[in-house]
Amino acid sequence: MQRMNNKLCVITGAARGIGRAIAARFQAEGAIVIVTDIDTANGAATAAELGCRFEPLDVREEADWSRLAAVVPVADVVVNNAGVTGFEAGMVPHDPEHASLADWREVHRVNLEGTFLGCRYAMGAMKRAGTGSIINISSRSGLVGIPGAAAYASSKAAIRNHTKTVALYCAQQGWRIRCNSIHPAAILTPIWEPMLGSGPDRDARMQALTADTPLKRFGMPEEVAAIAVTLASDEATYVTGSEVNIDGGLLAGSAASPG
Ligand code: NDP
Repeated sequence: MQRMNNKLCVITGAARGIGRAIAARFQAEGAIVIVTDIDTANGAATAAELGCRFEPLDVREEADWSRLAAVVPVADVVVNNAGVTGFEAGMVPHDPEHASLADWREVHRVNLEGTFLGCRYAMGAMKRAGTGSIINISSRSGLVGIPGAAAYASSKAAIRNHTKTVALYCAQQGWRIRCNSIHPAAILTPIWEPMLGSGPDRDARMQALTADTPLKRFGMPEEVAAIAVTLASDEATYVTGSEVNIDGGLLAGSAASPG
């Protein structure tokens, strides 16, 4: 039995990583999937491989969202997944003492402003039907302080809070539009590459990064997609304003203290 038959789903940052895995799983569950990404080459390639449609979308740009609203005016599910750590162009300081204002703002622009615009688009695309599911990809880093990634942690915490605001607003309007956040930790995707590097130390770095995780391994994007399917489907019609952790048990114990 397919769990998302004919649901029209828009996923941001879906060219690779968690977004791609969510797109693949939604597609397998019978959804009509629209892959979006700032990376048009990889986004189009991913969409072609999965057999779905691609729309270019830089989540920071209001004009891009307006264009999407014109070509995809209705949606049943929107996943605000696109996100950056701030380390994509190299390891610059992101601690609260040395981070530059420009770097701080850029991370918030993608993660927080992108999610704000994505939620706004989603409500517009869902309110006529009065039903839908918005899923915001936050992080374990939105629940604890991260000394070395202050902007990332701040932006992800704000996504968690905005999710609850959107959930309450939709309920107030009398819409059955739900909004929930997923909080992954240590999921093995290209987002980790700047931190893992290559060469002989890579395995040691992977082990070090998961040493505090009770399950002692990275999670896989498909494991996040499994949570997203439940939140997107009609199995979760009483779930709104909630957060789901997927972290190998990290937040369950004292290992929640950031390394
Ligand atoms: P990846 O870096 O593998 O994929 C992110 C995708 O988003 C890339 O295709 C990237 O394109 C795209 N993207 C970046 N900026 C924008 C933008 N402005 N507009 C549209 N698309 C953009 O990341 P993950 O799959 O690992 O992460 C997905 C989400 O999950 C993020 O929000 C991340 O913060 C969150 N998350 C991930 C965790 C993990 O361990 N992997 C843990 C906790 C949360 P390009 O390559 O061109 O930059």
